[in-house]
Amino acid sequence: MTDATQYQVRDQVAVITLAQPPINGLGLELRKSILANLERACADDSVEAIVLASSSKLFCGGADISEFATGGATTAPILPQVCEALEGAPKLVIAAINGMALGGGCELTLACDYRIALPAAKLGLPEVNLGLLPGAGGTQRMPRIAGVPLALEMITSGRPYSVKQLAETGVIDRIHTGPEEFLDAAIAYAQELLSSSAAKRSCADKRVDTSELPENYFTEFRAAIAPKTRGLFAPERCIQAVEAACKLPLKEGIQKEAELFMECLASPQARAQQHLFFAERTVSKIPGINPKATPVREINKVAVIGSGTMGGGIAMNFLNVGIPTVILDLNDETLERGVSVIRKNYESTAKKGRLTTEQVEQRMALLESTTDYADLADVDLVIEAVFERMDIKQTVFKTLDQICKPGAILATNTSTLDVNEIARVTSRPQDVLGLHFFSPANVMRLLEIVRADQTGNDVLLTTVKLAQVIKKVPVVSGVCWGFIGNRATEPYFRESMAAILEGATPAQIDKVHTDFGMPMGLPSVVDLAGIDIVVQTRADRKAQTIDLDPTYGAISHKLFELGRYGQKSGRGMYIYEGRNKREDPEVMQLAAQAAEELGVEQRTLSDQEILERTIYPIINECARILEEGIAYRSSDIDIVLAYGFGFPVYRGGPMQYADEIGLDTVLAGLNKYRESLRNGEIWFKPAPLLVKLAAEGKKFKDYSPSGPCG
Ligand code: NAD
Repeated sequence: MTDATQYQVRDQVAVITLAQPPINGLGLELRKSILANLERACADDSVEAIVLASSSKLFCGGADISEFATGGATTAPILPQVCEALEGAPKLVIAAINGMALGGGCELTLACDYRIALPAAKLGLPEVNLGLLPGAGGTQRMPRIAGVPLALEMITSGRPYSVKQLAETGVIDRIHTGPEEFLDAAIAYAQELLSSSAAKRSCADKRVDTSELPENYFTEFRAAIAPKTRGLFAPERCIQAVEAACKLPLKEGIQKEAELFMECLASPQARAQQHLFFAERTVSKIPGINPKATPVREINKVAVIGSGTMGGGIAMNFLNVGIPTVILDLNDETLERGVSVIRKNYESTAKKGRLTTEQVEQRMALLESTTDYADLADVDLVIEAVFERMDIKQTVFKTLDQICKPGAILATNTSTLDVNEIARVTSRPQDVLGLHFFSPANVMRLLEIVRADQTGNDVLLTTVKLAQVIKKVPVVSGVCWGFIGNRATEPYFRESMAAILEGATPAQIDKVHTDFGMPMGLPSVVDLAGIDIVVQTRADRKAQTIDLDPTYGAISHKLFELGRYGQKSGRGMYIYEGRNKREDPEVMQLAAQAAEELGVEQRTLSDQEILERTIYPIINECARILEEGIAYRSSDIDIVLAYGFGFPVYRGGPMQYADEIGLDTVLAGLNKYRESLRNGEIWFKPAPLLVKLAAEGKKFKDYSPSGPCG
């Protein structure tokens, strides 16, 4: 037998301890080991009860997800069989939940007769986040134990619940708060149950109580979660499984659950969501850097230059985790405005009950504000977030070079500018890199870390680790215009603007994009970001845009010239009145006029054309980004687009989406528009990597780059 679990008997109680740290993933070995020791305990006449415990900080993180792809998850004993054995054991089984019990780990505990937990432990069924449903009886046992409302919430949201909340619904029988060791308490609890002749509590004997459920409960629940689950496959299957629990005996319900689970597992969405799960865990691995052999620098104090939209949000990330931060701006007035926005943000979080007033004050106390660069002499990291102009940024970096202590990391939050050019004006280019936050910077999880030509490995690694401290997902990018994300989505903007010029309405394009799964269509994004910003950030790209194709961005230029900047000015792609927006007929008149001036023929565009024309060029640009070594892996690009630009998570990002629909399909689509569109030859030339991989019948995920970053 393996030592995936440990076994001991104490005072007539057998203790089976999950011992596969750090997460006790329920792979085949652990499943076999639990079963073997369960049989051993059941066969031992001196044993009267069994405690299932963990030697890790977590109780159990759930199924071993890598087994879904290899087929290991379906090799016997499968998890539902382990749960069935726990439930069917002739002796009392008690789960001793010392920490997180997630997914299969939670399902194990539901198959036990009683559950004792530490106060800080949590239980959750997060399978829905991987495009799945709990497939080891969770959808059948949770409603039987906790009732339908809690079970549905837990299973469709994937959110972990505290032991306190769960104790109120009968999921947790006892919370251990006493001084004795938790395992001792669990054994004592088992003995207490034995001496009170506590009964076994198999869910097979229990029906789901639906007596208090209002009529139409499930219909209303579906409607309530619809806005959050738009386009997702798994949540509906989760609901169907819980509905089955209300109607069927346990055994049949579990069969139904298995069918629904297999439907989810076979779906492209499950592949996409699992792809992102693994992608997120891979991003911090930087080819060529051995984290064990690379020292990291200590970051105990941070400075942010610029207290505008980005600077304020960036500062909050550090205040949130207790790192003192100095914020600098040109004058007291802008500085005060910036600091008051930070305070307002915290206060509004406090109003929602997610921070205490004391926490607000603690965070604000860590913030210093100044107009004097001399106050930055002792900081370990500076993040510059001033106006997007090379001359201004270079002046700031020259000053930082003079003021900051040796070894301080100097970062820029530029969205598009050349980080090498910024590094060049300092005497310490090894300490300079890009830290590109996304707006709102205190909310968005993505952080692009831009590795300039001379950025030191220790500087890069320090910021990757720091990103994790401030709860961001870091993706390393090489230097190019717009880095990974803004560069990849540039053609999405270009083709959406072209489609309007050719006769599509902003509303048609928005609908195509939201039907695809984007939270907003491109025209609405442009109105939100500001048409002035959109035009200005491309102003120095004339050679790559308008000079090549005079129709480029024509409609955004027209609106810009008219001062119609989008939401901020009440008019842009749409007309805004308070919270409402409506279509602006003048936009199409402007488009018709521009089309005539530029000799573009207007026509009706199909939704399919809009989709292909705006999405396939993203994939094409990403292929170039990969081939040039700007990104290390196709999965890194997917993280950037899914976490920073709203590419639907259930499509896994543009590279995974292309891998799913086939690179030959994407290539054929690009070639079609290359031939049929007037400017097709300029914009739709397939990337060499795409052509090569498609010819070889390969996927992006098969490709390992060897470019400058590789
Ligand atoms: P903003 O105009 O809201 O704020 C800029 C701030 O910098 C202002 O408070 C200004 O007073 C200050 N400032 C200007 N010159 C300065 C100087 N020499 N010294 C000190 N302070 C100075 O701009 P923003 O939207 O916060 O953008 C800042 C940077 O972040 C830009 O490089 C931008 O490209 C980048 N960025 C913006 C976004 C976004 O969505 N807004 C997203 C990612 C990156």
